[in-house]
Amino acid sequence: MRASEPKTARPASRTPRVLVVEDEQALSMLLAYNLEAEGYDVERVERGDEAELRLLEAPPDLVILDWMLPGVSGLEICRRLRQRDETRDLPVIMLTARGEETERVRGLSVGADDYVVKPFSTPELMARVRALLRRARPERIASVLSEGDLTLDRETRRVRRAGRDIHLGPTEFRLLEYLMEKPGRVFSRAQLLDAVWGLSAEIDERTIDVHVGRLRKALSRGRERDPIRTVRGAGYSFDETFAKPQ
Ligand code: CA
Repeated sequence: MRASEPKTARPASRTPRVLVVEDEQALSMLLAYNLEAEGYDVERVERGDEAELRLLEAPPDLVILDWMLPGVSGLEICRRLRQRDETRDLPVIMLTARGEETERVRGLSVGADDYVVKPFSTPELMARVRALLRRARPERIASVLSEGDLTLDRETRRVRRAGRDIHLGPTEFRLLEYLMEKPGRVFSRAQLLDAVWGLSAEIDERTIDVHVGRLRKALSRGRERDPIRTVRGAGYSFDETFAKPQ
């Protein structure tokens, strides 16, 4: 269906598509779940030869590519991607169980943009996906999120409100970033937990309340408006009316 679409002139607002090539089903599903929670369209294939076909038919915006695959190896797929004009610049994150420095060099030498050793932390991989997509298509994922007098810069990790710097811990930063990406959307505590700490984290959902409390305290001074809305029985959202004058 997508094969007939022109490869250029994609609308800037289109949801980035990620192809996950991984033969371990549990891992593949975990990746898809997390990528979808980040708002990407995800397609999964298990075999190397299948991946080659999909990459020819409809190149995604990013590939997460396992090294050891049935059919054609990830290494070989990556090498071939780099030889074709249409996929030369396609961002590739290589997954592997090998951690040897020489293997890492080999992975990077065939043109992988990034290289992640299993077992890896899901939030870290998600951060790498975001970084690569941002680098590849800077117009699609803004590096600065801005709502009203509040700005969050993902590159410099700085948050400012009404001209002053807001100092946030890494968890509060990620929480704010996630909420600001979709103003108005209500996220349950479980969703925030997955997004900020990762699925494997063993953290009580009440911990979220503590971090949201800290975030609120850091963001608002005096009578300033609270940008975060508590939705009783549901979770939290970034108040979509925050940017509008009261
Ligand atoms: Ca494998």
